[in-house]
Amino acid sequence: MSIKKILIANRGEIAVRIIETCRQLGIRTVAIYSDADRYCKAVSMADEAFHLGGVALADSYLNGEKIIQTALNCHADAIHPGYGFLAEQADFAQQVEQAGLIFIGAPAQAMRLMGSKSAAKKTMLTAEVPCVPGYQGDDQDPELLLKEATKIGFPVLIKAVSGGGGKGMKIVEQAADFAVQLSSAQREARNAFGDDQVILEKYITQPKHIEVQVFADAHGQVVHLFERDCSTQRRYQKIIEEAPATFLDDQYRQAIHDAAVQATQAIEYRGAGTIEFILDDDGQFYFMEMNTRLQVEHRVTEMITGVDLVAWQIAVAEGKPLPLTQSQIQCRGHALQVRVYAEDTVNDYLPSTGLIEHMQLASDEHGLVDSGVRAQDSVTIHYDPMIAKLVAWGKNRADCIERMQTMLNHSVVYGVTTNLAFLSAIINSKPFLNQQIYTNSLDNKAIDLAQTIPPAVLAIVAKNLIKNGASNSIWQQASGWRLQETEPLIITVVKPEHSQQHRVMVTDEGFLVDGQHHYQPSATDYCYQHRHYLQVIHNNQRYQLQLPNHDIQAMASDANTIYAPMPGKIIAIKVAAGEQVSQGDTLLIMEAMKMELAIKAERDGEIKSLSATVDKQIKADDILVELVP
Ligand code: ADP
Ligand code: ADP
Ligand code: MG
Repeated sequence: MSIKKILIANRGEIAVRIIETCRQLGIRTVAIYSDADRYCKAVSMADEAFHLGGVALADSYLNGEKIIQTALNCHADAIHPGYGFLAEQADFAQQVEQAGLIFIGAPAQAMRLMGSKSAAKKTMLTAEVPCVPGYQGDDQDPELLLKEATKIGFPVLIKAVSGGGGKGMKIVEQAADFAVQLSSAQREARNAFGDDQVILEKYITQPKHIEVQVFADAHGQVVHLFERDCSTQRRYQKIIEEAPATFLDDQYRQAIHDAAVQATQAIEYRGAGTIEFILDDDGQFYFMEMNTRLQVEHRVTEMITGVDLVAWQIAVAEGKPLPLTQSQIQCRGHALQVRVYAEDTVNDYLPSTGLIEHMQLASDEHGLVDSGVRAQDSVTIHYDPMIAKLVAWGKNRADCIERMQTMLNHSVVYGVTTNLAFLSAIINSKPFLNQQIYTNSLDNKAIDLAQTIPPAVLAIVAKNLIKNGASNSIWQQASGWRLQETEPLIITVVKPEHSQQHRVMVTDEGFLVDGQHHYQPSATDYCYQHRHYLQVIHNNQRYQLQLPNHDIQAMASDANTIYAPMPGKIIAIKVAAGEQVSQGDTLLIMEAMKMELAIKAERDGEIKSLSATVDKQIKADDILVELVP
């Protein structure tokens, strides 16, 4: 049967992603939303949208009954669950079908089987797919578990049978710690999944996470769409994914693809799925688990194969055969995805909530941005803090990494703290470039990402601060930094790590930083400033700095002259000389580095002069507008 209308039982970027494909296929879309998401992007894009209830998940995105009733009321034919929430809940899939609707996902029986890490491993062992050595029995007697752990050999990993999202996992280094770690894993599992059963696995000390995208239709056809390397993780959660895994030779890759297809054939499967493998340091690969849904990282597979996986999901749900056979699926180039989280990476990855004051995520013809939020939306405590995914394609890995670096450098988010600088530092690091990142590298701090601020960056900051009126007398009163003709500019950086003070002198040769380094900012150095947040791009590396807040408020009161923040072109002028403007009003719009940048008034005033004209090419620091208070 052909699907004409789909209700999307999800939110955020995956809801937006599904709507995009539906639009191309001419399928109508229905969004659902909680109180917190009333004005979100997905709701504004969908053909219809229905309010489900409050922010509690049980009232909204996890309320299967309400969701099915909504789908019936608006005459949808099918429900797409996205990922997370109800995507892997077998009971929900069954209820959807009992209501006469199509569930765009895996069959309930496969979900049940693969949703249990013990049942999944038992099935795979029977199908002769290699599994991580361990214990997956039903007997959960602590004495017996300890005996099994000793048999496996320490270190051992305890995993929740019903676990997911990296929760409920504990490493045990030695027998003496086993009892304590076991009760801790059980407690976590009971709270998160309502089930305290565990399995035990040999802990692989240098693990690579390689997974294979598989697809099956209702006619017995199973194919793979190559592998993804998801070894860059924090706390067992992926943050950077790429395809293909170029450090593996073709024979090895083929063996993994074959094992994934074999695993899929061993269960009666339909739709998109992912077989996750773990690779140990002596070249063995083992089945870890199967995710019976679309994956957050599906975009990298789409980029190397040219396949729209959501369109395939819909086709398979309609009962159609897979659009391509195995030999027709080709792997072209390289793709990389980074997950942009609103979180404080130096503060234990604490989610950062609040208003996104400004957001510009850069993409070009070989890159894309998937995001469920826009500027002026809020990141709330209610949902996952992932705000976007940046995906880049290149003809090879090096080319792809370079593109991603550019995308990261040219992306700015202000208002909430993000991991953009952290992601940039990772993909610039030697272990990443040499493909020597293991899934525990970040947690073990095996990669040094502490960003020391090079003197050149401080010189760029100093130039920017002076340009913004640092010479005014107000500055001398502000405690954070000040400038006098003969005295250095004192810049206090309160972040990224801890508060540091630097002295910058303006000399004939440029800027003298901390009495020893001279630097003259060049045309490729950028400094974006938003209140007390600074972002500097220097040598294709990005640095995020934060100054003490009060300094910037002082500075805003002196912003009478507005300079071009970077080279570019004026594309629109919103004001005229003599006009009264208020703080925050957009004065003109410039285009720089393929992005539009609104230049705003930093204070109230009257436009004294306007030196910009539309289409004019401008250099960094050119005076654009002068205000009189
Ligand atoms: P993957 O292997 O694809 O990363 P995860 O199991 O980590 O899969 O989860 C997939 C995604 O689904 C998460 O990154 C998150 O965005 C979303 N998600 C999962 N569970 C929840 C939940 N309970 N609430 C909100 N979002 C969730
Ligand atoms: P989840 O359902 O939470 O995704 P997984 O079994 O897929 O659980 O494991 C998540 C991550 O934990 C893996 O990607 C890997 O980084 C790590 N991990 C899992 N099993 C092992 C193991 N046996 N040894 C070392 N690391 C492991
Ligand atoms: Mg997993």
